[in-house]
Amino acid sequence: MSEALMSTYARTNLAFERGEGPYLYTADGRRYLDFGSGIAVTALGHSHPHLVKAIQEQAAKLWHVSNLFQIPEQEKLAQRLVEHSFADKAFFCNSGAEANEGAVKIARKYFSAKGQPEKYRVITFDGAFHGRTLAMLAATNNKKYLEGFGPVVEGFDHVPLNDLKALKAAITPETAAVMIEPIQGEGGIRAVPTETLRAIRQICDEHKLLLILDEVQTGMGRTGKLFAYEWAGITPDIMTLAKGLGGGFPVGAILTTDEACSGIKPGTHGTTFGGNVMAMTAGNAVLDVMLEPGFFDGVQKRSSYFRQQLAMLADRYPEVIEEVRGQGFLLAVKSKCVNSDFQAAIRDEHVLGVTASDNTVRLLPPLTIPEKDLAEGIQRIEAACQKLQAKAQKDAAGEAA
Ligand SMILES: *Cc1c(COP(=O)(O)O)cnc(C)c1O
Repeated sequence: MSEALMSTYARTNLAFERGEGPYLYTADGRRYLDFGSGIAVTALGHSHPHLVKAIQEQAAKLWHVSNLFQIPEQEKLAQRLVEHSFADKAFFCNSGAEANEGAVKIARKYFSAKGQPEKYRVITFDGAFHGRTLAMLAATNNKKYLEGFGPVVEGFDHVPLNDLKALKAAITPETAAVMIEPIQGEGGIRAVPTETLRAIRQICDEHKLLLILDEVQTGMGRTGKLFAYEWAGITPDIMTLAKGLGGGFPVGAILTTDEACSGIKPGTHGTTFGGNVMAMTAGNAVLDVMLEPGFFDGVQKRSSYFRQQLAMLADRYPEVIEEVRGQGFLLAVKSKCVNSDFQAAIRDEHVLGVTASDNTVRLLPPLTIPEKDLAEGIQRIEAACQKLQAKAQKDAAGEAA
């Protein structure tokens, strides 16, 4: 690995040359089943023909003009996201953290424009992940990420997940919004039950707070519907998207109601790159595929098959898998061994997963994966489980002796 790269990541010693559907290939031809999807990003798999064609054609025409000009592709993507969600307006940026920053700015501006500038605080939840910018570190409130970066950005209060009493107690006259992931991703695929999401919506209504849903990971079909909030039958005031939105092209978005973004005027928020022609072309191409009739039925059908198969592995290998959880293709295995050992064991069988908190490994296949490739994945994961189980039994025997 190059000495020139800053040592921000503990990278696996693997490099890929190309990808096709759910598979990644190294330069020397080794094939891996990609159940990491670049951390829930490549929602349509690798080299999807429709995305490749759209990007190739656009690349030959125009890449970037800035938001000083009209961008028809941006208007089109905004229109489609609005049509298929609760929202009235969309804003485009480049990443999840940037989308969340913008969401908090919009919420603060909403109250300040209404003559209530004292309402600026945002309540977030233990185990959350909202990104790595200074303010999103404060929102995330993970000691490990905050350490050494100076004073924590002001204005975030934290309560335990799924504790409505604590949430109510944390609300003060300074509270502007509640920000939550419908299913915590980095936190280890920890779900917020439907009735809790509904209660949070109601609490926000009662206290006239804005509800911000961070759907950076859960959005764009990951859970088997376009947006995870649809399962709960509630709507947020503001929602953020990124990961799957561009199918691998960096793009983020903030969706809001007209009311929630009523404080925003020309000049209050902006970005140079956000919503550029290439990113919007990618986003539109992703939506072309996801909005095809039956797309989400297919995701739900194949993901329940996959989950069932994983649950069978959990039954068969109780010394290896403690629990399988999640929704759609946003799944995690809670491991009985160290999660990075589980991740390494399935990688030895050429299946890629992503570790998360609470000793989990996320399995996030592309939404388009055919059942036969899921079946192959299960076989390979089972081979890893057999080895881990044999090792666990050997270790236990060694301890007993
Ligand atoms: C990944 C993630 C983010 C941060 O997105 P970046 O693009 O890495 O800035 C924020 N929120 C959630 C829920 C995420 O999963």
